[in-house]
Amino acid sequence: EEYLNRLRQTEPQIQSFLHVSENALRDAQAIDQKIERNEELGPLAGVLVGVKDNICTVDMPSTGGSRILEDYRPAFDATAVKKLRECGAIIVGKTNLDEFGMGSTTESSGFQVTANPWDVSRVPGGSSGGSAAAVSARQCVVSLGSDTGGSVRQPASFCGVVGMKPTYGRVSRFGLMAYASSLDVIGCFGSSVVDTAILLHAISGHDILDATSSKRVVPDFSSQLTSMELFESKPLRGLRVGVIRETLGDGVDMGVISSIKAAASHLEELGSTVIEVSLPSFSLGLPAYYILASSESSSNLSRYDGVRYGNQVASDELNSLYGDSRANGFGPEVKMRILMGTYALSAGYYDAYYKRAQQVRTLVQKSFKTALDENDILISPAAPSVAYKIGEKKNDPLAMYAGDIMTVNVNLAGLPALVLPCGFVEGGVAGLPVGLQMIGAAFDEEKLLKVGHIFE
Ligand code: GLN
Repeated sequence: EEYLNRLRQTEPQIQSFLHVSENALRDAQAIDQKIERNEELGPLAGVLVGVKDNICTVDMPSTGGSRILEDYRPAFDATAVKKLRECGAIIVGKTNLDEFGMGSTTESSGFQVTANPWDVSRVPGGSSGGSAAAVSARQCVVSLGSDTGGSVRQPASFCGVVGMKPTYGRVSRFGLMAYASSLDVIGCFGSSVVDTAILLHAISGHDILDATSSKRVVPDFSSQLTSMELFESKPLRGLRVGVIRETLGDGVDMGVISSIKAAASHLEELGSTVIEVSLPSFSLGLPAYYILASSESSSNLSRYDGVRYGNQVASDELNSLYGDSRANGFGPEVKMRILMGTYALSAGYYDAYYKRAQQVRTLVQKSFKTALDENDILISPAAPSVAYKIGEKKNDPLAMYAGDIMTVNVNLAGLPALVLPCGFVEGGVAGLPVGLQMIGAAFDEEKLLKVGHIFE
């Protein structure tokens, strides 16, 4: 009740939810009854979880932030949601996002713009802006987002919460609306590393319904976080940390750079060795990402044809039924991505764009491999700036895309990355949070969470 009251009070300003569950209280009462009957409780019993609205839920609408799916109700739960319910979690509602995950502010949502709880005149980041803002404003305990090119990490940074993008394949994508299937992962938000670790543990693991989900054993991410090492004076002794040189140069706010440098010194004080490393292909990642993500999305979004899912603009003629339904249902950002992707994949341009972008992807993977052979983790800012004003970049898509420079390379390489608050710059009422990104080797979430927990 306390959470729901807070949600009701704050929602008129924040607008992080597209739908609030009518059953949350009933679900909580069911947990109460279990307690009375001394029944066994799951690890997330009674914990309120917000779920990004591109993740399917059987008992609530799932719009993907798009008008084309305004009335869509899935016939199933996404595997991640199913697992949460099995752990006793209460799904409190569906959070706002940029349409189908395409954007960095939530301004491209087909429904509403979410505000940053630190300063409501600013964006919460995106595309999982609703999930980040909901945790930041304490409207729920933890939340799920998705990260194709930074959509968990950048909003975590803007909203001053913890955000975890797991390794590609660690969490099943079954029931996650596809944006760019080779990059998409479901990720987690929490207000501490421990909360985030518990949530990640609950949703991870192989799933027969997603052939790209990994069969690797899932360690109990949170159990290691209570270890006595925390009380040692140099708990990170022996840890090799590489600061990515290319992320602390031109185009990055001074306040962000100084917070990251302070975080590097803090890691040193905790016992680790910090060196500077170079990822030579770093700046190529951004154009390669936008070509690959748009290309995959142009194919994935062809399923929204007005027949199989969502809203239909009726017509006697099949092609105009398709065309009118799509013209009417998709917003401008999505249309632009479909056009860009279709162009990049077209016969005459395929070699010049899509193929070259795939080659860059291999370069990016190799340079991470070299850097992570020599270092345990790599660090960088999660975004080149703190949260900016609503409307500031709305009409300048290239400026908005440039803000993804810190995160997209990690998706191209499929690696895990943890973002946590590491400082503030002046602005808003109480300052604006800066996020530190820690990148690890594939399937080494355990190390990131451990270092993050000690750091925080
Ligand atoms: N901002 C990036 C994009 O618009 C990343 C989005 C995401 O991770 N879903 O593609």
